[in-house]
Amino acid sequence: MDGMRASILLAAEADIDAETQKRAKEYQRRKRVINWVSSILLLIFLLAVYATGLSTTVAEALTDRWGFWGSSIGYFALLFLVAMVLRAPFDYKDDFLIEKEYGFSTQTPQGWLKDLIKGWILNFLILGIAALFTFWALQAVPRLWWLVVGLGYVVLVIVLGQLFPVLILPIFYRLKPLENHPLQEKIEQFLQKGDLRAQGIYEMAASEKTTKENAMLAGLGQTKRVILFDTLLRNRTPDEIEVVVAHEVGHSYHKHMWTLIISQSLLFLITLFLLDLIMWQIDPRFVPEKRTLTSILAVLPIMLVVFSALSFLLRPLALWISRRCERQADTFALDATGKPHALIRFWVDMARKQLSDAYPHPLIKLFYYSHPPLSERIALAERWAHSKGA
Ligand SMILES: [Zn+2]
Repeated sequence: MDGMRASILLAAEADIDAETQKRAKEYQRRKRVINWVSSILLLIFLLAVYATGLSTTVAEALTDRWGFWGSSIGYFALLFLVAMVLRAPFDYKDDFLIEKEYGFSTQTPQGWLKDLIKGWILNFLILGIAALFTFWALQAVPRLWWLVVGLGYVVLVIVLGQLFPVLILPIFYRLKPLENHPLQEKIEQFLQKGDLRAQGIYEMAASEKTTKENAMLAGLGQTKRVILFDTLLRNRTPDEIEVVVAHEVGHSYHKHMWTLIISQSLLFLITLFLLDLIMWQIDPRFVPEKRTLTSILAVLPIMLVVFSALSFLLRPLALWISRRCERQADTFALDATGKPHALIRFWVDMARKQLSDAYPHPLIKLFYYSHPPLSERIALAERWAHSKGA
């Protein structure tokens, strides 16, 4: 290890001090526990609705009165509403109370509630379309429904990917193109490298809700753009902003949107295929010959339980792919800017101020980390600096 690398490493380790990391672990753990409890409660509710025969009673009552559309929408709306109400107190604790306690949230309770309701409406529409399509496919193509729903998923993800920065994100945040920014010219060279237009950088008014700093690559095709939190633009040095933008451009350069869409679609397809196999064993009403809308709605709660379990088991694979993409984007940012120190400074601050756990337990990393832990990202930048002899 040469002198420079040793000094970067020591400085980074000294800055990610034990005291803030203890706080970071506690913050992350509390949020995970809340999510676990609310998920388990929801699964127990679904199991109870299925096991007591309540889902069958409701399904029969609905399909006796109404046809496909009425019964499907009615059943979905009922399940959705109960699930959201069940989750709401946990969401309040997780998104609002804890975020306030650690000094991140800048929202009022009213503002938070407004966002919650907007989120409900949006999810109701998107999940509703997905649910109706699935109910239809389960009946219309009883043996290959999982394939048809899997293909439908690809279409939905591509449409939502395109609409996200222009239609969905603006529901929650004010966005405007970044104009006359001192960095604009500097950034333009690597924007083109990443197949992004020069005007493809946007500023998002994140400070209205949080003190956290972040950036993202959003959209597909014509809507593709880099979005920077205004908190990042305000608090970071030009060098740090430059490397963060370069990281997002790296995602575009490596076409990671497509890597993620294709890999997630394949994993979703595998999940549905396994779900089909397992459902045949669980409930005789699910076999293709006996399947009606009534039986589909009656077994839906147990289908959701099995689907959740399968998704959870396959999650490490999806996260592993995502972490690989992040490492590629980090390397792109280092190559494009040649500023490992700025990147390391930003990450050290992420660990300190945003309470990111730099050294998570391997199991936590496996099931929760879409990005490599900061300790690994810092090590990557150090190796890069070392290889360049910087
Ligand atoms: Zn990234």
